[in-house]
Amino acid sequence: MTQTATREVTILARAQFKSNPKAGGYQVLSSNGVDRYEVTVYNGKATSCTCPATKPCYHIKGVQEYENARRASYREYEFQMGSYSIPGLY
Ligand SMILES: [Zn+2]
Repeated sequence: MTQTATREVTILARAQFKSNPKAGGYQVLSSNGVDRYEVTVYNGKATSCTCPATKPCYHIKGVQEYENARRASYREYEFQMGSYSIPGLY
């Protein structure tokens, strides 16, 4: 039996290490709604999670999707900002 349902991951906080811009992490809420786990992200890739589940767990997958979307929207934002600076309005 193939499990295709994806569980939503609740992201509580995002952290970026100032000393290393490539490294960061997310604090996520457990499916029991009480426990909190830390998902480590390095260079845009979710690498580890502190939960006891078999890796990659759904926290890692959820954080990876969130990180991908965040990076995609950031690029779009940069593109939009860039388009405002095109000379021609004067
Ligand atoms: Zn996990």
